[in-house]
Formats: sequence, C-alpha cells, structure tokens
Amino acid sequence: MHYDALIIGAGINGLLSAWLLAREGLRVGIVERGEAARESTWAGAGILSPLMPWDYGGEVNVLSERGRALWPAWIEAIGQSSAIDPEYRSCGMLALSLPDRDRSLAWCRTHSWRAEETPAWLDNLLGKGPDGLWLPDIAQVRNPRLAKALIEACLAAGVRLLVDTNASRWDIQGNTVRSLETSKGKLIADRYVISAGAWSRQLLSGTIGDVDIRPVRGQILLFQAKPGLLPCILYKAGRYLVPRQDGLILAGSTLEHAGFDKSTTQAARDELLAFALDVLPPLRNASLVRQWAGLRPGSTDNIPTISVHPRLDNLYINSGQYRYGVTMAPASAELLLDLILNRVPAIDPSPYRWSMR
Ligand SMILES: Cc1cc2nc3c(=O)[nH]c(=O)nc-3n(C[C@H](O)[C@H](O)[C@H](O)COP(=O)(O)OP(=O)(O)OC[C@H]3O[C@@H](n4cnc5c(N)ncnc54)[C@H](O)[C@@H]3O)c2cc1C
Repeated sequence: MHYDALIIGAGINGLLSAWLLAREGLRVGIVERGEAARESTWAGAGILSPLMPWDYGGEVNVLSERGRALWPAWIEAIGQSSAIDPEYRSCGMLALSLPDRDRSLAWCRTHSWRAEETPAWLDNLLGKGPDGLWLPDIAQVRNPRLAKALIEACLAAGVRLLVDTNASRWDIQGNTVRSLETSKGKLIADRYVISAGAWSRQLLSGTIGDVDIRPVRGQILLFQAKPGLLPCILYKAGRYLVPRQDGLILAGSTLEHAGFDKSTTQAARDELLAFALDVLPPLRNASLVRQWAGLRPGSTDNIPTISVHPRLDNLYINSGQYRYGVTMAPASAELLLDLILNRVPAIDPSPYRWSMR
C-alpha cells in the first residue's frame, strides 16, 4: 500500500495526528514497534495544563492553551467512534505553598485564568487554612482510556495501525525520503512523520541531522482510596495528586535523567509516598497498588519540534512535548496538519521549527 502519510509512533501525538490527517481524506499508516499507546502516553497523569504555567514561556503556553481549548470538542468527536469514556473532567487544581503567590496571581490576571482562595470544602478536607491558590478550570483525562478511544477513532477513520513493527532506516534520494525500512519490510509514503516520543532522536542518523529530544524518566505511585476522597488535583512543590473517578489516586512524579531505563526505584517510592501522606493524610488508609515509570520526550524549555525537516521536503516531526504532551496534543496535531496541507497555521509555527544543530 502507498500511504499519503506514514507516522512513526502510536503515542498520543502519532495517534492524534493520524486521526486528523485521515479525517482530511489522506491514506494514513502508523508504524508502532510495540503495542499502541503503552509508553509515555500510558504512563502520564493526564493533567491538562502545564503544572505552573507562569513558570513557562509563551512557546509552551500557546500550545497548551490551544490544546486546553480544543480538547473538549475533540473528545466529543472521538467519542462518536468509541464507547470508551476518557474521563475528561474539569476538576480544578489546588496549588499549595506557592513560593511567589503574587506573581502567580498577576499571571492569572493577565492571562484570564480564574484563580481564587481555597474553597471551604477543601479547607475541611485538608485542615483549616491551607495556603492555596484554587485554579478551578484545570481539567484532567484518564490517558490510557483516552488513547484506547483514540485508537478506535483512528481505525474508524481508516488509519492502518501496524503494531509490532519497528521503524529502522530511511531510504533517501536527494531531498526526499523514498521509503522507510521496518522490521516487517519496506513502506512507501508521500510524507513521513516522526512521533516516536523519547525515541524520536534515535530515528535520525548523523546524515539527516539531530533533534533536541531526550528521555526524562517519570515515576508515579497509584493508590486505591474511597471514591470521592479527593475531589480535585493537589499540587505542592513540583509534586501532585490526581484523583480518578473510581477512587484511584496518582502521586507523581519524578524527573530523572536515566537514559532509556524505565525501572522504578525505592527512592522514588519513598519520596512520593512521603509527599502523598504529607498533603493528604487520609491516604494512609488507602492501599498502595502500583508504581510505574515512563519516559517523557524531554526538550529544552519544554518546547517541542513540530516542523518539516530543514532539508528533506517530505519528512516531518511532531515530538518533544516533554511534560505536557497530552495537554499540547491537539494543538501540536493541528499545527502538523496545517504544515502538511500548506494551510495558514492557527498558531505561529516558528518557535517549533526544526533547525539543524
Ligand atoms: C510520569 C509522567 C507523567 C506525565 N504527566 C503528564 C500530564 O499530567 N499531562 C500531560 O500533558 N503530559 C504528561 N506527561 C507527558 C506526556 O505523557 C508525554 O509528553 C506524551 O505522552 C508524549 O506522547 P508521544 O506520543 O510523543 O510519545 P509516546 O507516548 O512515548 O509514544 C511514542 C511511541 O513511539 C513508539 N516508537 C518509538 N520508536 C519507534 C520505532 N523505531 N518504530 C516504531 N515505533 C516507535 C513507541 O513504542 C511509542 O509507542 C507525563 C509523562 C510521564 C512519563
């Protein structure tokens, strides 16, 4: 089969890009070396916002704000092809002990974010007078479920998903990629898109350049508590608790430069457990059910690369969303689509351009 677009990697970025392209009538294939959406996309917490947006530059916030705005309608559209509920919820986040509350409040004012005092119902749960900033509009999804629904939507849109298929080598002639060598043979497309998460850089060799993407490990602990124990996301000093509707509570996450090692560690377990019990003491009555690690596609200042290759006219990349890949995914896929279809992009593409380093 000859594809209009062949995407490497079936994480949130590859899947969402494939879904959009297929809905435009393109013949789309995804090459995934393992199971679809079992890497960073599975491992993440599903908070739909940069943790503290005022700590980031415009390049991050433009993509994440557009992602936040697009998600509700896109989740509805995905839901037309799948009965799986991704549990999108605008549950809000309480940020505790912010080092510079005035700066955070000023950012919220200039960016039209609602920011309020801690609501009374949270005072009751956490003890009187937590020094919090309540951000009621922060939402979450249950990313493994979102990904499953998206896979069904991709298949319904005609995307061919080739799992257990490792992409290994490009056949390049002049300024054009002619074909992609995979563990299941050669595949031919008009355009190729790298969305291989933390592994995106491995798909490039010295001859076709480099990209600013490196693995950054994140570990999470999972508790089973009574449903409703925690109604919103809690944040303190770089760590968070995220409650799911069935009483599961995620405590995350670490930021570790450990190469491609996805092991979990006792040190992370101890640290996350201490954090979780400190911010939500009733968790001591919950059971600790699991610990996992995932590899984020890390990039400098959390700025992804969404672009055509500087020299090869049919090689694209949509990767490097680092800590906020689920938040940014709709805006990233939309930008990629605009670039591929030569449309005027909805956002300025220049901060995300692929430059030869
Ligand atoms: C602990 C943790 C917490 C997080 N929390 C949040 C959060 O709350 N909110 C948020 O927005 N983001 C969060 N993230 C970040 C987010 O999960 C990632 O940015 C996002 O999932 C990246 O998606 P991706 O599609 O680029 O990569 P991935 O999901 O990693 O997918 C890449 C895919 O490419 C495949 N692949 C790689 N090499 C090849 C090859 N050679 N051939 C074929 N296939 C290949 C892989 O098997 C994989 O399936 C978190 C991440 C972690 C680890």
